[in-house]
Amino acid sequence: AVKMKGVRMGFGSLEVLRGIDVTIPVGSKTVIIGPSGSGKSTMLRCMNRFEVPADGEVEVFGNNLSGLSDGQLHNLRQDMSMVFQNFNLYPHKTVLENLTLAPVRLKRLTPAEAREIAMNNLEQVGVADKASMYPNQLSGGQQQRVAIARALTMQPKIMLFDEPTSALDPEMVKGVLDVMKDIARKDITMVVVTHEMGFAQSVADRVLFLDEGKIVEDGAPAQVFGHPTHERTKRFLSQIL
Ligand code: ATP
Ligand code: MG
Repeated sequence: AVKMKGVRMGFGSLEVLRGIDVTIPVGSKTVIIGPSGSGKSTMLRCMNRFEVPADGEVEVFGNNLSGLSDGQLHNLRQDMSMVFQNFNLYPHKTVLENLTLAPVRLKRLTPAEAREIAMNNLEQVGVADKASMYPNQLSGGQQQRVAIARALTMQPKIMLFDEPTSALDPEMVKGVLDVMKDIARKDITMVVVTHEMGFAQSVADRVLFLDEGKIVEDGAPAQVFGHPTHERTKRFLSQIL
């Protein structure tokens, strides 16, 4: 599970997270929505300690992140992988190398073992035929599927997605969402920042609505989308639905 208790953080004088309390159970699928600047990415980045909260606690599998040694943090990061809006592939590495690099370095797999896992994962996301190409030779949707396959090679227990489809052309979105739906069938824990309502409705067991650094709505998709309790949520939903 991921637990956040009273998490606050900001940048300079800007308060971004203003007391986040949430427990994300093992195996659950959580979607986070909210206006631009409300703190969604920052919240996600506090979960794997890409950002360090100014106050409050973040616990992952019972470990308080603030007390972890570098070695422990390194281990924890292997269990959590993150997929970004802009793919973040290594531009000078082939698709296959993008996938095998981390498992060989961090998980101490042999190149052959890493290669086998990588090819299976590329197969799973439908881009195995691109293995020897470079990222800039792929469409945005293909690059994002490679990025997801790369995240999967670490066999993470938790996957964090930060607006994985928002940089894609509309016709590329479905392929990426389908891959994410496939992943959701496993008992992996998923936390997904997205405004794809169809995805949220079919995959999420829970939707959090973040506004100005606070969780103002927390419930099943049908409840949050169908019967939001706050005026702010209603206004936001009316803009994106
Ligand atoms: P979006 O939907 O646009 O991605 P968001 O909800 O993910 O927004 P965050 O990226 O968490 O929002 O940012 C929240 C606020 O913190 C924003 O006002 C942003 O400008 C600010 N911020 C984020 N990262 C930094 C940083 N490294 N330095 C300074 N300010 C930052
Ligand atoms: Mg963001």
